[in-house]
Amino acid sequence: MKEINRCRYCKSTRVKARAFTSTGRQKIFCHDCKKVSLLPVGNRLPSACSVYRSGTCRDAEAWSFPVVQTEARECLKIANANGGVPAMRTTIAISSKQLRELQKFSNLHPELHANINRAIEFRQKVLAAFNVLAEESETAITPCEEKPFTREEIAGLAHLLSPEQFAIEMEKATR
Ligand SMILES: [Zn+2]
Repeated sequence: MKEINRCRYCKSTRVKARAFTSTGRQKIFCHDCKKVSLLPVGNRLPSACSVYRSGTCRDAEAWSFPVVQTEARECLKIANANGGVPAMRTTIAISSKQLRELQKFSNLHPELHANINRAIEFRQKVLAAFNVLAEESETAITPCEEKPFTREEIAGLAHLLSPEQFAIEMEKATR
């Protein structure tokens, strides 16, 4: 441990990480004099994040991602059943506010940097795949443009049409 990660009061190295201040400086608790002091700007003790440290968030689980296509398909199923495509798009996308928070978190925890980037990349890939799937399914349910009848065809159907319908269909028909 570096000299600077010592208790500010008694210089003990028997310290543990506490939360960060709003300006990003890490608080440390001294086991010897029981005082809390701040580390210099940019310094941190390893595994300072309480969630990470307490083991509620295990590496393998927290940072493993499903297959992009599978995830995108599941999202489309959910969107079609409930909420719709635009709402799901917003859910998948990372907002600029979320991105800023992730960047802040990532700066405080360099050991998580690569994983956080992977998570961001995953969401972006899912969104791209989702957009493709959503577009495909939209195309699939859009009825094909009806091919107009020719006059000859309408003449052949004349016995099925009322005189008014016959006149309307003849008017629409290709010449
Ligand atoms: Zn101390």
